[in-house]
Amino acid sequence: MAKTALITGASQGIGACIAKRLAADGFNIAVNCRGEWEQENGGNQVAEACRALGVEAECFLCDVSDFDACAAMTKAVKERFGTIDVLVNNAGITKDGLLVRMSKEQFDAVTNVNYNSVFNMTRHVGGVMMRQKSGHIINISSVAGVYGNPGQINYSASKAGIIGMTLTTAKELGPRNITCNAVAPGFIETAMTAELPEKVREESMKLVSLKRYGKPEEVASVVAFLASDDASYVSGQVIVVDGAMMM
Ligand code: NAP
Repeated sequence: MAKTALITGASQGIGACIAKRLAADGFNIAVNCRGEWEQENGGNQVAEACRALGVEAECFLCDVSDFDACAAMTKAVKERFGTIDVLVNNAGITKDGLLVRMSKEQFDAVTNVNYNSVFNMTRHVGGVMMRQKSGHIINISSVAGVYGNPGQINYSASKAGIIGMTLTTAKELGPRNITCNAVAPGFIETAMTAELPEKVREESMKLVSLKRYGKPEEVASVVAFLASDDASYVSGQVIVVDGAMMM
């Protein structure tokens, strides 16, 4: 039976690219997106692209910051595909601002989506994987979570928290043959970085040794490795994908 991968926030950007890459690798794909508009204008097309690669794929609506909605999506994916072998916690947002100007709402909005969602999904899918006695969980963190980043106190806190969850998940679920790793991208060309002012792009480029932003495919290929049998003894790791920016 084909294995199944569930990717959160896969209507566009890195998540969509991971979905298509794992489909090309033979996984059935559960594409998650947040709302009906995103489903019609992104999620359904990503699922269609995956099906065109010869696997089964479907888009599941769920706001991953909602614990009960994550339980319902996990149940629906398990019923649809039979197993959940790979979980990629990818959904994320930014609401940047300096610490002393940031509102509580701005802080909570980002931590709810980026950080709470990883607990929500791992809590539910982890149970499925424990019963299966196998699985790979891959959390999309960020260099901002490893090194910090001015103007992103909410984002860097959420991405650092994800690393803590990755390490604990690897330790707790390892005895059930479940691996858990984090991928920490640097600047990747997506809608998220397209919003950055030109000055920030220029300054950030000075730090990147490879002198270009990464492509979503270059994150997806690392995720594909961690989701594969080739990475069966890799767990509890944070793999930075940043073109030698932060060292
Ligand atoms: P993106 O193009 O903005 O895509 C973000 C995705 O997250 C969208 O599909 C969005 O879905 C989804 N999402 C947001 N809130 C959600 C929610 N509550 N429930 C379900 N889905 C939700 O961003 P990206 O650049 O691909 O980022 C993907 C991940 O990589 C994020 O975790 C981000 O923090 C991380 N990352 C990105 C970069 C970079 O340079 N791009 C660097 C480091 C880390 P909708 O379209 O349905 O809203």
